Amino acid sequence: MPNPTQPTASHFINGTYVEDTAGAEIPVIYPATGEQIGVVHEATPAIIEQAITSAKAAQKAWAAMSGTERGRILRRAADMIRECNHDLSVLETYDTGKPMSETLYVDATSGADALEYFGGLAGSLTGEHIQLGEDWVYTRREALGLCVGIGAWNYPTQIACWKGAPALACGNAMIFKPSETTPLCALKIAEILHEAGLPAGLYNVIQGTGAVGAPLVTDPRVDKVSLTGSVPTGRKVYAAAAEGIKHVTMELGGKSPLIIFDDASLEDAVGGAILANFYSSGQVCSNGTRVFVQKGIKEAFLKRLHERLQTVVMGDPLDEATNFGPMVSERQMQIVQGFIEKGKAEGARLVCGGERIGTEGFFLEPTVFADVTDGMTIATDEIFGPVMSVLDFETEDEAIARANATEFGLSAGVFTTDLARGHRVIAQMEAGSCFINSYNDAPVEAPFGGAKNSGVGRENSKAAIEHYSQMKSVYVRMGAVDAPF
Ligand code: NDP
Repeated sequence: MPNPTQPTASHFINGTYVEDTAGAEIPVIYPATGEQIGVVHEATPAIIEQAITSAKAAQKAWAAMSGTERGRILRRAADMIRECNHDLSVLETYDTGKPMSETLYVDATSGADALEYFGGLAGSLTGEHIQLGEDWVYTRREALGLCVGIGAWNYPTQIACWKGAPALACGNAMIFKPSETTPLCALKIAEILHEAGLPAGLYNVIQGTGAVGAPLVTDPRVDKVSLTGSVPTGRKVYAAAAEGIKHVTMELGGKSPLIIFDDASLEDAVGGAILANFYSSGQVCSNGTRVFVQKGIKEAFLKRLHERLQTVVMGDPLDEATNFGPMVSERQMQIVQGFIEKGKAEGARLVCGGERIGTEGFFLEPTVFADVTDGMTIATDEIFGPVMSVLDFETEDEAIARANATEFGLSAGVFTTDLARGHRVIAQMEAGSCFINSYNDAPVEAPFGGAKNSGVGRENSKAAIEHYSQMKSVYVRMGAVDAPF
């Protein structure tokens, strides 16, 4: 393994690294070179059992601590993450291939933000007192118990923290299963949490494919499942969790619209479209991949976009000058190449990109299609790669109707200098996380999540507390009981 900061075993259970070589090997591939840089073993049934047992054993005492005590540990972990930001960013780059120019500023940082924010909230989680004449009701905000987090591969550090931080703040235990494509980062988060003082068993990480996620979801000892993944996986996991009437958060895919009106600042709109399509090589769930540009500025928009894309620095993700990395895996690269071919075959105009670069690693050029129509595959399906579809429109009503004509509802954006129009359009977007004259900002203070098939529940912000705790209400009678018999 080239990086000394890499985790030392496949799983982290009950406060320590655990190995079980009986589990199938999962190679860890560095996406920038295609080289194997490590191996982890899929969790065996014994490992899954160990994780569940230790989490169950630890949870009640954790929930019984004061929120302030729990929060202090989370905030300490946040500080430690910031102190190791460089090493964690290198690890994120090894796991995902995303360039250090991103990972140094986004991944561990956003994970630390979540731990700091929910650590701060933990001490203020309360119920309420409801006076009913002499009698009264009080409510207790209680932990759900054992939460399972299942992650996608695009933001392994961030997802591990976005799920872990609110779960732990509310007094739950968590078992986190990263994507098999990016197994490393969550282990480091578990290690840091325990070094920060988290009692053993409260944040366990076990590796594996969906075959490991599935038994976790159906285990009767699990109270909640939070998945970040695609809509088809979401359907399966939601259905399996429903069998046990479990709480769920589903953060699923999208095909989000970005509407650019002809009064927008062209430079900002082009910048917004770049952020909405090419950050993390396009592997972002909330990306605005259907870019609706009002007819009057379409050619000027495409010209400026093309010019700015010439300045992309693609290459070694460990070089901080690089600002565009590879696809996470060969498979993902092939999926995206398939969509590019479909785009060409269905008659979209290729403005730039479309090619694989080099034979080592999984690099694809940032790709822009224009003259895309609503029914084309590249306009209807989530691609999860650096492929922007530009569609043109004439009127506001038309743009709104076409933007909403999708099963997805994760995000939406609008660029205009007419702020009244900006708010009016966003109010009509069937989407959970929206932007006006910006794109893809995800501060921990703001709720994040999807409408329609893009998911249920919200991560981040105070809204996440509702999804990791439950209310108990207690009626207290002060006088005699008046029974009919
Ligand atoms: P997948 O849906 O393929 O997988 C998500 C996770 O679920 C993985 O850890 C996977 O394991 C696991 N899994 C698969 N099948 C099951 C099952 N039957 N039971 C339990 N767990 C299972 O998504 P990707 O990893 O390919 O990530 C890309 C997708 O994630 C995109 O659609 C993207 O939009 C979405 N996403 C959504 C975000 C959001 O917040 N809304 C953020 C980021 C991504 P394994 O892969 O190891 O087999």
